[in-house]
Amino acid sequence: MRLGFKLMAAVVCISAAMPADCVAALRISDYYSPRNGKRPARSSTQYIILHTTESPSAGSLRKIRRYGEAHYFIDPAGRAYRIIERDRIATHAGRSMWNTRRNIDLYSIGVEIAGYHNRDITAAQYQALRELLRQLQRIYRIPDDRVLCHAMVAYGTPNRWHRHSHRGRKRCGMLFATDAVRSRLGLRSRPQVDPDVESGALAIGDPELHEVLYGRSRAFGTSSATEAAPSIQNVISSSVTAWTIARDRYNSPDTIYVFPSGKRVSGNKLADWTSLPAGTVVLLPQEPDFGAIDNVKTIGKDGPTAEDIAGDETRSATTVYFLPTGSVLRGSQMSTGSIAALQAGTIMLVGYTYGGHVTANRNAFDICGKRWNYPSTLYRLPDGAFQTGDSMDERAIPRNTLVFFRN
Ligand SMILES: [Zn+2]
Repeated sequence: MRLGFKLMAAVVCISAAMPADCVAALRISDYYSPRNGKRPARSSTQYIILHTTESPSAGSLRKIRRYGEAHYFIDPAGRAYRIIERDRIATHAGRSMWNTRRNIDLYSIGVEIAGYHNRDITAAQYQALRELLRQLQRIYRIPDDRVLCHAMVAYGTPNRWHRHSHRGRKRCGMLFATDAVRSRLGLRSRPQVDPDVESGALAIGDPELHEVLYGRSRAFGTSSATEAAPSIQNVISSSVTAWTIARDRYNSPDTIYVFPSGKRVSGNKLADWTSLPAGTVVLLPQEPDFGAIDNVKTIGKDGPTAEDIAGDETRSATTVYFLPTGSVLRGSQMSTGSIAALQAGTIMLVGYTYGGHVTANRNAFDICGKRWNYPSTLYRLPDGAFQTGDSMDERAIPRNTLVFFRN
């Protein structure tokens, strides 16, 4: 019974000042990220950004918690988890812009909903999210048209398909732009246009997504998320390119192209993007929002010793060790004895070239060229957090950030 009491005590209303609001029984469990305490307070809260995990619930909750990548997480059963305290910064929006404001993490609360951008969420998730939004909107005075989805604020930098910076880097949370879904969440308005496309700051990089987000044809409360969602199959054709399918993960080592002949090639090994044969199937990594973060390993968590994690690569120049003292060393700079003596908590990267620091005179492009925004490239920010290349804004990489890339 004591355990039962403890569980009940953990289920508290997020709005302590308004106990009457608890009647809707939104159950939020504390499940704080180990990064929570290190995250600075957010000075301004203008938006709520809704995400879909694009992967099964349990694995995504574990990862989001581990890296502090949302304030809240709602699982398919409608259970809500508190990952980062709501007044601190969570890293959920990556390279983002809304109405000329960049780095939306600094101005927003991020909510991850276990599910997919083009599939309806469960009735329990509707109920939980509706109540969570109601409470957060009241606390921070956020109007309905500032409840956005990640697809609305994410943007991409120029690549082989887009000469200009563009909207459409992600479809994350796309269904939360549709009238039917917003209606069920109690949201009475939505952005009518993309302010950064209107101003000319960004081009439209995904016309189908743009139609879902801002199309005129959908009267409030009539369309369904699944009707509104474009149905893109992961097969290359005359009108479907690698970009349409894989976005900026097109050249990731984790994205696999299966040719009609059966031959399989990973994205980083393909050179000719214009003559991919029709019928080529594109296999995307299971958890597209996280990518290379998976490659960040910790002794004690991912294996008992460095050798368990890196195997034959333990003393390789492309195995990197982040010692608890703050030193960063390549395996080739270390003795077998010093590697064997590494303590639990030492972080490792296997298969990565150590590119060095970003400085005033040396930017990420100088360090690793076109790989600077690859999903496989990793940045270690001065606060110790890792981010992937596809989530970086080249104008906002702090000095002394370390860059690691794959060859
Ligand atoms: Zn997202």
